[in-house]
Amino acid sequence: MNRTRVRHALLVSILLASCLWVKEEVWAGQAGGCNPKQYAAERDKMVREQIRKRGIKDDSVLRAMGKVPRHCFVPREFEDEAYDDHPIPIGKGQTISQPYIVALMTELLQVKPSDRVLEVGTGSGYQSAVLSGLVNRVFTIEIYPALSRKAGALLKALEYRNIALKQGDGYFGWNEHAPFDAIIVTAASNQIPPPLLRQLKPGGRMCIPVGGAYQVQQLMFIRKKHDGTITTRAVLPVRFVPLLGGH
Ligand code: SAM
Repeated sequence: MNRTRVRHALLVSILLASCLWVKEEVWAGQAGGCNPKQYAAERDKMVREQIRKRGIKDDSVLRAMGKVPRHCFVPREFEDEAYDDHPIPIGKGQTISQPYIVALMTELLQVKPSDRVLEVGTGSGYQSAVLSGLVNRVFTIEIYPALSRKAGALLKALEYRNIALKQGDGYFGWNEHAPFDAIIVTAASNQIPPPLLRQLKPGGRMCIPVGGAYQVQQLMFIRKKHDGTITTRAVLPVRFVPLLGGH
């Protein structure tokens, strides 16, 4: 290679590197200043010690949990606790669930890459981001406009492209996009909402905490058989914030 060519190659690689740097800066800025590449060691430790050790076996779920930058989904002041073994406040009296519970509910749904999944309770957007890499499309509903807007902006900045958000009462589901292969409800309800059961495909799975507000509830796994009959199984006692709304 002659000297001009070497100089040219050098210039091109410097330009490319600076473009990538600018893209990352803009992206990090849009994502509320978080750097998605940080906390890789904490994320690995979370997967190893909180999730795999407690019995989550599905490799695709473990990979998704190891990939999504959870620290971007928590308020700045909690960033250094993002990978700890507990839920974290996200505003409006709501929380991002404990990592293990997110992994467990995701595994229970037994999703496939072709699936369309409904989530009730967008919150920070973290559970949607985890599902995003595992399924074809995620539809997520949040009752608080401010949380829905914030999650929408963050998911866009982090380039999760297969997630559709809606602000509203998720008790009634999202009829226009039904039926769903799987439904996950991340707030506790006194009953399994009938509109959600109707919007579940035959063969579909649902995961929902059932029980009273601010009490210990049961995480329920529900299956709609191909003949339309419903089976339910109590998985684990849990404590979720209540499902709000006009129902
Ligand atoms: N999945 C969320 C995440 O990854 O951050 C955490 C969910 S938080 C435990 C429960 C969420 O459900 C809250 O953001 C709350 O505002 C929302 N919520 C409560 N009732 C709702 C309803 N009827 N429809 C939609 N969202 C609701």
